[in-house]
Amino acid sequence: MPDNKNKQTDVVVLGAGIVGVSAGVAARQRGLSVVLVDRREPGSETSYGNAGVLSSGSVLPLNKPSLWSALPTYLTNRHAALRWDPAWVVRNFDWVARFLANAAASQVKPRATALHGLIGASLKLHREWIVKADAAQRMRETGWLKVWRSDALEAAKQEQAFLAEYGIDSRLLDRQAISALEPNIVPVYKVGLLHTQTASVDSPGAVVKAYARMFARSGGELRQSDITGIECDGEGWRVTLADGAIAARHVVVALGPWSADLLRPLGYRVPLASERGYHQEFKPNPARALQRPIHDAEGSFLMTPMEQGIRVTTGVELTARDAPSSYAQLDAVVPVARGVVEFGEAVGEPWRGSRPTLPDSLPMIGPAPRHPGLWLAFGNQHIGFTTGPATGAAIAAMIAGAAPSFDVSAFSPSRYL
Ligand SMILES: Cc1cc2nc3c(=O)[nH]c(=O)nc-3n(C[C@H](O)[C@H](O)[C@H](O)COP(=O)(O)OP(=O)(O)OC[C@H]3O[C@@H](n4cnc5c(N)ncnc54)[C@H](O)[C@@H]3O)c2cc1C
Repeated sequence: MPDNKNKQTDVVVLGAGIVGVSAGVAARQRGLSVVLVDRREPGSETSYGNAGVLSSGSVLPLNKPSLWSALPTYLTNRHAALRWDPAWVVRNFDWVARFLANAAASQVKPRATALHGLIGASLKLHREWIVKADAAQRMRETGWLKVWRSDALEAAKQEQAFLAEYGIDSRLLDRQAISALEPNIVPVYKVGLLHTQTASVDSPGAVVKAYARMFARSGGELRQSDITGIECDGEGWRVTLADGAIAARHVVVALGPWSADLLRPLGYRVPLASERGYHQEFKPNPARALQRPIHDAEGSFLMTPMEQGIRVTTGVELTARDAPSSYAQLDAVVPVARGVVEFGEAVGEPWRGSRPTLPDSLPMIGPAPRHPGLWLAFGNQHIGFTTGPATGAAIAAMIAGAAPSFDVSAFSPSRYL
């Protein structure tokens, strides 16, 4: 491992998830010298365990007006969509109140417009980079299927009309049309909505690793170490690691759910919550393959065909990031998924991760308000695998003094800091 003790670099990117790796790739494209640091291999945490959906249509975050009507069911703490820890909610009441306030109807358009810009820019980069990174075979342009067991035609039509306002294409399906698309699932779903412009990958972790190799090929430096602190150092920054330090002109914090920790000593109290989620993979039956990710809207789970098997992912668990795992949501949804598609025994252990979420469900993309040269790139909630490339590219553009390719004003860190 190279010793960076006395090295001055243009940019140090902290965190090699999809956001940090993307910042590294984009900063190298702008000719900056870059060191990318993570204690693990690239793409080993949240960016590994997600559902791999590159979603064109996720412009409405979870805190949307319909959250209000769902709240009474969630209060029972038995719904698969949301489990919450009462002690955490009491301790973080401010975050919860602000999250709920953002579910107001008046908050829909500005946030959806902002996310639409971010998602569009990001999907363009994913489609370009995945080819350059020799990982195009991992991407499937087969869309994403949301399905309902009940007669939810009206709900599906409303969603379709809302997406159409943003130019996002989708197709309404009845039971026969769902079976024609996914012949290997049991025909339990009455209504479907196919997001036709959404893609997916068969291993998000492998895609991030491929982007990281592309970064290294372009002259970027990867360093595996625990980051213990960041401090101002004259005109620049000093990043302390478990095994040394790096001096840099710019530091990008892309630590996903861990981002708030390193910022606290600098006086930033970031209202970042962990919407935790789980996955478990199962041996597929080759004769019963899935063609695309399927979102069971009422069952509150996703099934995605992955390299290792069928990955079943859960809804949200609101609790402390590092609290012990509870497999209640997986236990609830796996039998339901098994009733839809035939799959074999579990492959490996269940996985847990944290969707990093700010109260308005928009990421922070931009400069830290009181520290020149410090850049924030985190809070990408449920769609960070989708939005990582444009998040990183926007930061690289701003560092280079250029304009990002989409409107970043709604993502300014100063709205909270
Ligand atoms: C169940 C589930 C399903 C999801 N499905 C989807 C989906 O289908 N599509 C989608 O777009 N998004 C999805 N997401 C969201 C997406 O996975 C995240 O938003 C995204 O991965 C966040 O990326 P990141 O780079 O910000 O964070 P991470 O991938 O977590 O990267 C942060 C990195 O920082 C490193 N790090 C932290 N602290 C330190 C330290 N002190 N020293 C050194 N390194 C450190 C970590 O090791 C890690 O590699 C899902 C999330 C979950 C939990």
